[in-house]
Amino acid sequence: MKICRFDNDRLGLVEGESVLDVTAALDIVPAVRWPAPPGDALIANLDNVRDEIDRLAPNAPARDIADVRLLSPIANPTKVIGAPVNYSTHADEAKADTGIHHGQKIKSIDEYGLFLKASSALVGPSEGVALRFTDRRNDHEVELAVIISRTVEKISRGQALSAVAGYAIGLDMTVRGSEDRSFRKSIDSYAVLGPWLVTADEINEPGNLDFELSVNGETRQKSNTSQLIYDIPRLIEYATSFYTLHPGDIIMTGTPAGVGPVSDGDVMVVEFERIGRMEVGVRAA
Ligand code: MN
Repeated sequence: MKICRFDNDRLGLVEGESVLDVTAALDIVPAVRWPAPPGDALIANLDNVRDEIDRLAPNAPARDIADVRLLSPIANPTKVIGAPVNYSTHADEAKADTGIHHGQKIKSIDEYGLFLKASSALVGPSEGVALRFTDRRNDHEVELAVIISRTVEKISRGQALSAVAGYAIGLDMTVRGSEDRSFRKSIDSYAVLGPWLVTADEINEPGNLDFELSVNGETRQKSNTSQLIYDIPRLIEYATSFYTLHPGDIIMTGTPAGVGPVSDGDVMVVEFERIGRMEVGVRAA
């Protein structure tokens, strides 16, 4: 199932080139009062929401995908987690390019650990990326995004995929510079998630997906998730060895070679096997 959030926080079921409006399925999500439990309520109740979507879909009004405004399919993650240098091809280019490393030694993911991006940086593809420091290099990083299904801590890699709700395309946008990585990657709109959530049952082999990012029609990044240094189960094991993950938490799994700058007016297009196509505009903030 492909589930999107569109327009004014409506819920959509994506089928082909159409979006079925199944917003009424959200009625099954319990109303809460303060303090809300940590995590994304849609994902926490996903099994029940899916049953409702199935019930509503045959009579749901349809829209063309091209006519809706796609927002981040996850609204309230407690964390957006990033994986530094998790493709060897990107490690090699980072070591060779002073515009990426800024005089800092490029270490391995074992040495760096994971990092966090502010949840407030999260946007959907139709919102686009608003560049904040246009005199500096702002890079795209295309990544497979893993969405966590339930509260989980200290899970082994053998069990880790049982805690995955689904997948989406992530853009870990980055302003290059000497500041801490989390600071540079947390600018508003520098975490793009979309175009929709593809539930885990639709992707049997998340560790073998082709993907490609182009800017204004020119291919910049092209790889396969089989090239991950820490694969998805190991990333989840690693993350949960340090902290608890909650429903809707997002792991951006790392980027391959080909990262490069974008500027005002550029259009990024990502094609991701089994997920789909995502188009994201870039503008000066
Ligand atoms: Mn990244």
